[in-house]
Amino acid sequence: LTRKASTGEGLYRPLTHHSSGPSSLEFPAFLRHLSSFWAAAARHRLSWISPFHTAQDCDLSRGRIKWFEGGKLNVSVNCLDRHVHTCPEKVALIWERDEPGSEVEVTYRQLLEMTCRLGNLLRRRGVKKGDCVTIYMPPCPLAVASMLACARIGAAHNVVFAGFSAEALAERIRDAHSSTVITVNQGVRGGKVIELKKTVDTAVDSCPMVQQVLVAMRTENPVAMTARDVDMEEEMLKEDVVCEPAVMDSEDVLFLLYTSGSTGKPKGLVHTQAGYLLYAALTHRYVFSYHDGDVFGCVADIGWITGHSYSVYGPLANGGTTVLFESTPIYPDPGRYWEMVQRLKINQFYGAPTAIRLLLKYGDQWVHKYDRSTLKTLGSVGEPINTEAWEWYHRVVGDGRCPVVDTWWQTETGGICISPRPSDPDAEIVPGMAMRPFFGIKPVLMDTEGKVLTSNNTSGALCISQPWPGMARTIHNNHQRYIETYCQPYPGYFFTGDGAYRSKEGYYQITGRLDDVINVSGHRIGTAEIEDVVNQCSAVAESACIGYSHDIKGQGVYTFVVLKKDVDVQETDLSRLLNDMVSKKIAKYACPDFIQFVHRLPKTRSGKIMRRVLRKVVERDLNGLGDLSTLDDPAAVQEIIQASDKCY
Ligand code: ATP
Ligand code: MG
Repeated sequence: LTRKASTGEGLYRPLTHHSSGPSSLEFPAFLRHLSSFWAAAARHRLSWISPFHTAQDCDLSRGRIKWFEGGKLNVSVNCLDRHVHTCPEKVALIWERDEPGSEVEVTYRQLLEMTCRLGNLLRRRGVKKGDCVTIYMPPCPLAVASMLACARIGAAHNVVFAGFSAEALAERIRDAHSSTVITVNQGVRGGKVIELKKTVDTAVDSCPMVQQVLVAMRTENPVAMTARDVDMEEEMLKEDVVCEPAVMDSEDVLFLLYTSGSTGKPKGLVHTQAGYLLYAALTHRYVFSYHDGDVFGCVADIGWITGHSYSVYGPLANGGTTVLFESTPIYPDPGRYWEMVQRLKINQFYGAPTAIRLLLKYGDQWVHKYDRSTLKTLGSVGEPINTEAWEWYHRVVGDGRCPVVDTWWQTETGGICISPRPSDPDAEIVPGMAMRPFFGIKPVLMDTEGKVLTSNNTSGALCISQPWPGMARTIHNNHQRYIETYCQPYPGYFFTGDGAYRSKEGYYQITGRLDDVINVSGHRIGTAEIEDVVNQCSAVAESACIGYSHDIKGQGVYTFVVLKKDVDVQETDLSRLLNDMVSKKIAKYACPDFIQFVHRLPKTRSGKIMRRVLRKVVERDLNGLGDLSTLDDPAAVQEIIQASDKCY
């Protein structure tokens, strides 16, 4: 670590105890150390209305997490006003609209004005400090202004991905108890118009607490307005461009956000003001090596934590220029991302393995067509990135010259916790590995008995031994579930629910969800390990492995395989080949007992494979599929059920 002392990070000294939990000897000094690192970073990075008196007051075992108590600040001032003072005409947002070449730039001054008008409008219409506003909008400047307007007046926001059904939206509105909803008349994605306002109408009909729906116009098509609807842009014009920022405590709620629902019913996680913002800003700057003047291109939707931390809060807190991507990776063709990189001169590109695997299927020519020389860092998030996708991203997209940062984190962690950077720019990055903990993050691996694994070259349950400012404080309305999910499984540690491997060198690799670990005759295998090998076959686009109960082995391995476009092979031959590959690269016991070729896999709306649904399909427990509110396309499940007698 070579940060200068003047930036605050100088207080951080690498500790030698990366892999072990806190022992009684090192504990007090170690904690003091970490607290002063975070305190210095918070003083240096954030603008405070009044300073905090206590850096941290945390007790992981009881789920009590408090950072920077006594401090007062306003998040929108940190993201906007302070940059407007120094560089008002700097571009804050580049709205990359669905049609390529129709992007819109918004400066810091314009975004502040928009936010203030909207803040005043919300205030005038009765939204108060502590209320929660639900935002159902695609990525666009008004969506960002809505988030920041909530922060301006001290309301919490609850952004719901604008692809969710009316029912899923209604459930989130009711859970958050929002009396105000903000939306747009229609969305535009992949050349198609999406009736967002109509979905809101249906949702709100079953939400008696909703008193008003603010409607902005994304398209020119009028929509039917009811008595509770407000023409947002028209009303904003009547408002002042100055809006007094609310004075917020560090630990007041900034937002709640539901998880992707890969492993069960989505959890409404609560993030607070100062700690979250600090962590988003620091990770954005250092993981991606973001420098002033760079254009940051995170293509996640604002409805996910990645969009919150790396399209909105991190880049704006750092005074950066950030892209809001409205389209899809294949609209109008599979060259979309790279054409956008060329046109907007993007320096850091941050996307998901599911999209990389999809684009890889279409071939290199879509990448080569465009100039990608502005790219400096490539990021990946959301799922383990398999070796083949990693290599392609690095070699083809990045021309072998951009570091690929595989970033492991969760809605719960607020920001990136494990990734290759920051580190020496020449330091090794192993393909497919998330590598190193971020500043102040202390990962530990646990064995099945709940003991800390101290050695390297070992796998276990991934936990974090020290609190950090960006972590979620609770599950909305359900602190007990927070304690049971994250604090109780390994008392004194934050439990992530994921499994990881620590290499001989001490680098981390995520092996998948612990819920998905397959136990074959006593051998525990992470789904990512088998899938990684299967995906290395040149005919395979992607795959999903699950365990099913097996009389003799305890569990058997069932693998779903999606082939690349236009591949013509005998499925029986390919099954044999895949078995051979797994047997050689892992072990005979890891070989799939069944392989089923499918057209697509069931995914969450954020693009993650839903293995829990596949498990239920294989177990023929079709009534027990669980919460499907975040399932992207239910037809994918039906297809698999219908073809499940055709497996090898
Ligand atoms: P739910 O908690 O409702 O089941 P979810 O875990 O998919 O949903 P998110 O918070 O969006 O919700 O996703 C976080 C999870 O995504 C992590 O716990 C991990 O399993 C996976 N993940 C994220 N980034 C990576 C990565 N770089 N490598 C491997 N897995 C990752
Ligand atoms: Mg999760």
